[in-house]
Amino acid sequence: MDSKLDRRQLLKVAGVAVLGASLGSCARATSPSRHFAKVNVSPERVIRTTVGLRPFRRSGFRLEVERFDETTVVHNYGHGSNGVSMSWGTAHLAMEEALKTGETRAAVIGCGAVGLATARLLQRHGLDVTIYAKDVPPRTTSNMSAAWFSAGIGGDTDMRTPAYLAQQRRAARLAHRYFQDLVSDHYGVRWIERYALSETLPAEPSSPDPLGDLAPENVQLGPGEHPFPRAYARRFWTMLIEPSRYLDAVLRDVLLAGGDLVVRDFDSLQALLALPEALIVNCTGLGSKELFGDDELIPIKGQLTVLLPQPEVDYLIGASGLSMIPRQDGILLGQTWERGESSLEPNATEAQRVMDGLTQFFADME
Ligand SMILES: Cc1cc2nc3c(=O)[nH]c(=O)nc-3n(C[C@H](O)[C@H](O)[C@H](O)COP(=O)(O)OP(=O)(O)OC[C@H]3O[C@@H](n4cnc5c(N)ncnc54)[C@H](O)[C@@H]3O)c2cc1C
Repeated sequence: MDSKLDRRQLLKVAGVAVLGASLGSCARATSPSRHFAKVNVSPERVIRTTVGLRPFRRSGFRLEVERFDETTVVHNYGHGSNGVSMSWGTAHLAMEEALKTGETRAAVIGCGAVGLATARLLQRHGLDVTIYAKDVPPRTTSNMSAAWFSAGIGGDTDMRTPAYLAQQRRAARLAHRYFQDLVSDHYGVRWIERYALSETLPAEPSSPDPLGDLAPENVQLGPGEHPFPRAYARRFWTMLIEPSRYLDAVLRDVLLAGGDLVVRDFDSLQALLALPEALIVNCTGLGSKELFGDDELIPIKGQLTVLLPQPEVDYLIGASGLSMIPRQDGILLGQTWERGESSLEPNATEAQRVMDGLTQFFADME
């Protein structure tokens, strides 16, 4: 007998019998007509390896106003592993603080996802905006992102305050809403199914997730209800962003709306405060460590091995230490997390672990 068939039959019997009550019936299973194309993982298909440093901040992103004599600085940085996702949300909060100053001109420092969203929202409220940045797309950390929408809380659990959590929830909800307006080929944003895989049934949360509705059609699937070589799969819909197309499109919007872009590296706070604008929104990510002496900022190095694109692959997976993100500019394989590591050199050991793990994964997939 075919061993795959054997396994599938076994899983069906075991899965439905044992899990019936907790998981519901097979009505939740992926539809039999749903085809899951496998990723063709092989070293010959690798087109690049990218490395980026996530701007992780121990107590979560910083959205705060600081005054220096005549200049008001609104901080908007430290988004860790969710900066592309959260960009429009914290940009909205930063914009609210900026409007309170009554200024009509603003300097936005930083041209990654956070700076660009902030610049656009200030422009939409009538401000003249100049972006100053030492790196512009495609050379920002935001370009190195996997860039699927995740409303992750950010920060270390023991450092988050209730006020931060409230702010984070508001920002996540705003960001999710803003991104929905950008779903299009033009911005490179689309809806896609994500499967979070595990060998054990995830524990039921003690209270409902306050942001649960940002992951629509969230269903827990059991053995036999999905094709993946792990026992459990939580399925939901999210948005996937193509960073190179998206960042270019938003930068173009900033320029079309009359904004300016100045390529400039600020090597001190004094240099920054010498700008003519009395309102500065600081979106420098990891750059704030030096510029504002923020010792809470820590780089978390992440790298992605990118394979030739496969347009037929239309789902994301995340499986403890492994992930696959099918973008139009390539199939991204991850994931790696090196806390405190600031080298931009690819880590060969991690790259091998990811390649081996995902080669096995897709070989075992039904
Ligand atoms: C491998 C990997 C995968 C990721 N996956 C995801 C994901 O799936 N979803 C998600 O939401 N996020 C993801 N992230 C995280 C995301 O990339 C970051 O949170 C995000 O890019 C931060 O955006 P930013 O605009 O704050 O910073 P950046 O993109 O780093 O932009 C900072 C800007 O500030 C400028 N700057 C800094 N210092 C100075 C200075 N002194 N003078 C002038 N300019 C300065 C820089 O030049 C740059 O223009 C991932 C990151 C990595 C590395």
